[in-house]
Amino acid sequence: MNNCIFCKIVAQEIPATIIHEDDDVLVFMDIGPIIKGHALVIPKKHCDPVGETPDDLIAKLHITAKRIAQAQMNGLGADGVNIMQNNGKAAGQEVEHIHVHVIPRFDKDGHHWNWNAKKYDNVEEMNDLADKLRSQLERR
Ligand code: 5GP
Ligand code: ZN
Repeated sequence: MNNCIFCKIVAQEIPATIIHEDDDVLVFMDIGPIIKGHALVIPKKHCDPVGETPDDLIAKLHITAKRIAQAQMNGLGADGVNIMQNNGKAAGQEVEHIHVHVIPRFDKDGHHWNWNAKKYDNVEEMNDLADKLRSQLERR
């Protein structure tokens, strides 16, 4: 894919600190870590958005993320791990080549997600949204 920075990393046109690869996936250190040790799992083949990524590749990305999380716990002494995958600009996605963030977390790392939980106005509002989601899921 022209101009995709992650495709350029796969093609070794720009450098990256690679920690794992196989036929399907590449894992490298995020250049702007939320917490030091932050890694990215990407498919070697350009794919985006999540809805157009084959199920078996989604599975492979997340199975690999699980392995990286274990390596962060066992190798870096992480106390926890955030596994995240941003989709679309509204969700904070900047690089449009699907990727899974694997972020080691430490008890006193000082990082706090802006997890600002809201409330539904009433139960009907939540049920209405649930109905919309169910009807989409029934279409498959
Ligand atoms: P997004 O916001 O799209 O979910 O995440 C993109 C991630 O890619 C960011 O965390 C950013 O630091 C990382 N990133 C962007 N460009 C490069 C690069 O050239 N090399 C590496 N290693 N990471 C990058
Ligand atoms: Zn790409």
